[in-house]
Amino acid sequence: MEMNRTGASTGPNPDVQELVRDFPLPLALLDANGRIEISNDQFNRYCEVGSLTHDFLRSVMEHAADKEYVLRLVDRNGHECEARAHSSRLHNGVLLVINEFPGVARGADVEHLYQRILELEKLSATDQLTGAWNRAHLDRMVESELSRSLRFRQPLSLVLIDIDHFKRVNDRFGHQVGDSVLVEMVNFVKESIRSADTLFRWGGEEFVVLTAATGYRHAALMADALRAKVERHSFATVGQVTISLGVAEHVGSESVQEWFSRVDAALYSAKESGRNCIRVDRRGSSDRWAAASGASALHLVWTEAYECGEPTIDGQHRELFNLANALMAASFNKEASPDVFDAALDRLITHIVHHFTHEEALLEQHHYVHLGAHKRAHAALLKRAYELKADATAGKGTLGGLIEFLANDVVAHHLFSADRSFFPLLVQGNRKTI
Ligand code: GH3
Ligand code: MG
Ligand code: MG
Repeated sequence: MEMNRTGASTGPNPDVQELVRDFPLPLALLDANGRIEISNDQFNRYCEVGSLTHDFLRSVMEHAADKEYVLRLVDRNGHECEARAHSSRLHNGVLLVINEFPGVARGADVEHLYQRILELEKLSATDQLTGAWNRAHLDRMVESELSRSLRFRQPLSLVLIDIDHFKRVNDRFGHQVGDSVLVEMVNFVKESIRSADTLFRWGGEEFVVLTAATGYRHAALMADALRAKVERHSFATVGQVTISLGVAEHVGSESVQEWFSRVDAALYSAKESGRNCIRVDRRGSSDRWAAASGASALHLVWTEAYECGEPTIDGQHRELFNLANALMAASFNKEASPDVFDAALDRLITHIVHHFTHEEALLEQHHYVHLGAHKRAHAALLKRAYELKADATAGKGTLGGLIEFLANDVVAHHLFSADRSFFPLLVQGNRKTI
């Protein structure tokens, strides 16, 4: 089994390059680190004189969900101009478009370009046989998830899955049936993992699950539940198929390669132990982080800087914090008092629905140009909230998953980035210039 990272090409997608090159407005695609991956000549004209600094691009990457910026740019001829830029999140990076003239809304063709890039990205990141994400995409995801994990001090774990005696399946039933087992396995695993976990085809009959905000303990529970589910499942034509799994959480400063070697060694040990079992490398940053931060990390603290100046919205955002904190407190006693946890989760979801409806109506009144994208961001958050509820009801939910949703999705992404883009709209004379 190969232990290194893929070697698969992760360079810019040529189809996307062509789309970007031919587009009439200045635009760039930023990678997960805020580096320019692809840009067109119109965009380069501004970059050549360094008006778009790396710090700025990095902050776009870190905060971008759907956000508008007012930029002061100096073009090649030394002329200063004010331009408006808009960022949209891609699967693995950000699309930054400069609308050269202030007041020009994000036109329909930008929306079309955005959708097309998403489609192309998806196509080049997908394994053709099984529809799982491929190795090239794993490389990119590992990089961005790892930097997020270290920034938010949220653990990140890998589960490596290998089908047992798969050669025998091929030998007995033929390669085509073998292929259909791989497809069925992918669909089965996808249905069984949480929405925050991502499944990749690592190669052949081997797969990787990347589990966000999950330490090795929970990842091991997930892995063993998956193993048992697969064991009970009857695959078309072949019947029972079993899997062996290795689990490893990322540790401190180790390289991605070292991390993959550890998970590979864990899988090897599972095979040595007779297959149809899991083995865990019991190391990770999660214990250290938990000890260092204590319970305080599990409490969201409101500060005045979060206020947008519109009293109703501010009141609702505060309430969001209060209800999120109540839910996290309830999660510690979830085993003993599940009703209290369920009620706290319901209250939070009800509030989110109410808040989003109110905010969307207000933005419509103000003719907010990115209302469509903002509504989509809201819908995605609500979907995640309902998934969390379904997970909690099915006993699948983890504290890590809950904290990730509240701290990262609701607060960091929604309040700090998406909402920030319209704050200036609600408060006259407070336009942010970068
Ligand atoms: P172990 O329990 O030790 O993992 O045994 P194994 O037979 O599963 O492992 P081994 O690595 O010896 O064989 C893997 C087999 O998977 C060999 C290869 O032909 C088969 N395989 C790899 N990719 C595909 C594919 O895309 N389709 C099919 N049908 N078979 C594949
Ligand atoms: Mg194998
Ligand atoms: Mg195998």
